[in-house]
Order: sequence, then C-alpha cells, then structure tokens
Amino acid sequence: MGARVIDGAGLARSVLQQLQPRVAALAKHGIQPGLAAVHVGDSAASKVYLRNKVRACTEVGVHSEVHALDAAATEADVMRLVERLNRDERVHGIIVQLPLPRALSVTRILQSIVIEKDVDGFSWRNLGALVDAHPQLVPCTPLGIMTMLDHAGITLAGRHAVVVGRSSIVGKPMALLLLSRDATVTVCHSRTPDLGTFTRAADVLVAAAGRPRLITADMVSPGAVVIDVGINRTAEGKLVGDVDYASVERVAGWISPVPGGVGPMTVATLIANTVNAAERHAGMRTNDG
Ligand code: NDP
Repeated sequence: MGARVIDGAGLARSVLQQLQPRVAALAKHGIQPGLAAVHVGDSAASKVYLRNKVRACTEVGVHSEVHALDAAATEADVMRLVERLNRDERVHGIIVQLPLPRALSVTRILQSIVIEKDVDGFSWRNLGALVDAHPQLVPCTPLGIMTMLDHAGITLAGRHAVVVGRSSIVGKPMALLLLSRDATVTVCHSRTPDLGTFTRAADVLVAAAGRPRLITADMVSPGAVVIDVGINRTAEGKLVGDVDYASVERVAGWISPVPGGVGPMTVATLIANTVNAAERHAGMRTNDG
C-alpha cells in the first residue's frame, strides 16, 4: 500500500477560508490587512511566487501591493522603499522576495523591516523569539509544515525528526519548531557524511536541501512521515522536490507531494501571518498570541 498523501493545496484552501471571518472582524474596526512585497530584478520564478501570494491575498480580502524595482536598484533604493513601507499605516506585512541580486545585502535589507511587519519571520528578533520558545512571527514554510503535520494528526512528542538543510529560513526554524513540540531533532547538511544513516532513523523526515530527488526509498524507514520542501526544476523543465516521490511513496507512511504540498501552505501561512500582524496592530491580539 502506498503512503497517505498530505494534501498541502487542499489544506491551504481551508486555512485561507478560516482567515475570512478574522478579516471581516478587522473590517468592523476599519482595518484591512495589507501585505507589501518588494521585488528586485525580473526573475520569472519570483514573479510566479508573487502572483500566487497576491492571488491568495485577494481571495481572503487582504490588500496587497507589489513594488517592483529594476535589477540595477541599489541597496539604498531598496532600503528607502522598505523604510517607507515600515511607516505606511495601510501595510501590516512586508516581504522582500528572495533571491536578491548579488550586489545587495540580503541580511541588511531583511533586518531593515520593522519586526511587527516582518511577516516572513526572518528578522533576528523574530528568529530569536523562536529560539527562546516565545514565537511571534514565525517563518512561513516551517510554520506551514507544522500545520500540515498537525492536520494529519501526526504525533511529534518523543519521535525522531530529521531535517535535511540548515538555512535560516527553512531548516533551522523547522528544527526549532519540532523541538518545541518535544521531538528529538537531528539536523543534516551538505557536510553530513552518509546522509542515509540519519534519514533512515527518522520517524519524521523534512527534506529542505534544494537537491532534486536527493531522498530515495532506501533512505526512508518504512512508515515514516516525509515532508518535501524542495522546489527544483529539472533539465526537462519539470518541477520536482528533494524526494524521489515515485519510490519513496511506496515506503513512507505519509508523504507531501511537489507541487501541491509545502508550497501552497507557505503562501497560506504568509497570509495568516499578515492577518496576525494586522490584529496585533489593532490591539486584537497580544504579542504572545
Ligand atoms: P538553501 O540553499 O539556503 O539551503 C539548503 C540547505 O541544504 C543547506 O543547509 C545545505 O547545506 C543543505 N544541503 C545542500 N545539499 C545537500 C546534500 N546533498 N545533503 C544534505 N544537505 C544538503 O535553501 P533553502 O533552505 O532556502 O531552500 C531549500 C529548498 O526548499 C530549495 O529547493 C527551495 O527552493 C525550497 N523552498 C521551498 C519553499 C516552499 O514554499 N515550498 C520555500 C522556501 C524554500 P550547507 O548549509 O552545508 O550548505
């Protein structure tokens, strides 16, 4: 029997639907949540991601605006824009679409977003709050994955979770969230020798390496929960994850597909974070909520 599929696309639709009454409650206070996206350059992939985010905002009644800057924009240009958005009352969430052109400092630009509007959760203060187990705005991809695991009814306490990848936007916050739910967590990366030894020991395996079909069936323990974060384009133009879906779905207990898994949940969680930020701004939510 094949693995049960964790339908991220379906769950994302229901997350977005559940936001609608909260947006309506804000409207009664004269507030429409607003998300501003900064896009530098003309990456086709970034444009697709931004289109999906704008569409999700529209579905829920969240105001959205995309500020497109030329690839030649300087760091000062981007910072000026971010500072203006920091002060804009209509904007409750600001994201800077990654990757940025190489000449720009991702760190300096991301850290210039005020933390109350940092709906991607990438600021040091928001990441620090997560480390200290007082999460405020949490990075969307790992938070969306937690929603997927909870929705599937997967127990985390006492289980062994293995995260492949240690970036600040996916791998590390993922590890922290799993740890906060009492999983025993192992984090693997490009210098981990014999990756399979670790992945085979996982009850819950999160693959976030950005390597097409890195995780094969022999690297997965029978019945394990496998979450595929990777988005990779093959030479033939096909979108594939970090997991070799065809072989792994015969071994795993649960599996999330690409596309239709983590991607839509990342978008839905971004909109949820924007609504949270607007509620905090309106005093309808405490800082610990
Ligand atoms: P990064 O490139 O920042 O990080 C990749 C991580 O994977 C690094 O820690 C790297 O190790 C590790 N790694 C690379 N190769 C291997 C390997 N062969 N074995 C073990 N570990 C390896 O990527 P991101 O974290 O930003 O994204 C990861 C993937 O997730 C990408 O495919 C990205 O497109 C996708 N993604 C998907 C999202 C979604 O919504 N579905 C959202 C965000 C990202 P080291 O640190 O040693 O270099």
